Amino acid sequence: MAVPLFATSLDAYKPRLAEALAEVVDGGRYILGPQVEAFEQEFARYLGARHCVGVGNGTDAITIALRALGVRPGDEVICPSFTFYATVEAAVNAGATPVYCDIDPQTFCVTPDTVRAAMTPHTKAIVAVDLFGNVAPIAELRELGVPVLEDSAQAAGARLGQRRAGALGDAATFSFFPAKNLPCLGDGGAVITDDDAVAKLARRLRLHGSDDKQTFVEVGYNSRLDELQAAVLRILLPELDAWNEARRGAAAAYMRHGLGEYAELPEPTPGAEHVYHLYVVRHRRADDLRDVLSSRGIEARAYYRVPTHRQPATAVYAPPDRELPGTDEVARTHLALPMGTQLSDDSVREVVEACASGSI
Ligand SMILES: *Cc1c(COP(=O)(O)O)cnc(C)c1O
Repeated sequence: MAVPLFATSLDAYKPRLAEALAEVVDGGRYILGPQVEAFEQEFARYLGARHCVGVGNGTDAITIALRALGVRPGDEVICPSFTFYATVEAAVNAGATPVYCDIDPQTFCVTPDTVRAAMTPHTKAIVAVDLFGNVAPIAELRELGVPVLEDSAQAAGARLGQRRAGALGDAATFSFFPAKNLPCLGDGGAVITDDDAVAKLARRLRLHGSDDKQTFVEVGYNSRLDELQAAVLRILLPELDAWNEARRGAAAAYMRHGLGEYAELPEPTPGAEHVYHLYVVRHRRADDLRDVLSSRGIEARAYYRVPTHRQPATAVYAPPDRELPGTDEVARTHLALPMGTQLSDDSVREVVEACASGSI
């Protein structure tokens, strides 16, 4: 039995999605209309945050949020290297100089210690990524005295203590790319904040730096969440908690079936309720394990084998005087195994059996 990497399907929602899309088409409002406004309110309420600003995608969300937090050309912004490339790309596009910090190999997230090692008098912001659906220790990072932007693209619905990922930093960003835990049917993103001034500036920046499209007070972006995508998100948001519960159930099944004997399992940050956007284990021969799984029809993938500080476009920002040993270790050893809202117990057992069979 083949097991896909993404065991998630929207088939059951297609009739309702089609109906909602048809209503938007009939209504004739496509940009910044009632669907976006309603979704912004609903998502802010879900997260327990004051403001949600819908934007074009999760990458623009980071650029816009950094600028709204006051990052100016030449400012240093601390980012992990072990993340999706867009985290760092967005900081560069905001005019900032990214300064890489290391991660904790067990949680895949930055820590106060790894961030402190990268801080200088020029540090203007920290981007902490809630990687793979875990939650970075944002409250402790805020004690370092620099604004913290939480990149929650992979962690919709996760919690740290009583609070949701995305409501922990000075601002946060989401992506609604179709593979994320809260997907839309194309590109979409959001900036989240409790700060009225940051929200106002983010709204302005997504609309060409204008409040009214008459007077342009910033050089901004054309980056709005579409009405069509907002209508989709309003249908799918109420499903998010149940979907994440199913993902946690699959993660528990991996443990129950004994995967821990064959690989290092993902560790939630203390107090975090992980949402397993990806189920990422570590193995000292990760590519060999991937090949064993593949020979049995089980998909597995290394996401960031070449971390951002070694990518052609962004290696120039690599610290000459600091190693990133945690990053290099997990870059070499990580492997994402099948995960999703519809991953059956039988499929999980099959993956674990395949991991056991390889004797690697
Ligand atoms: C997906 C993702 C982004 C970018 O989101 P897009 O909507 O694809 O632009 C940024 N950061 C992380 C960690 C992501 O996973």
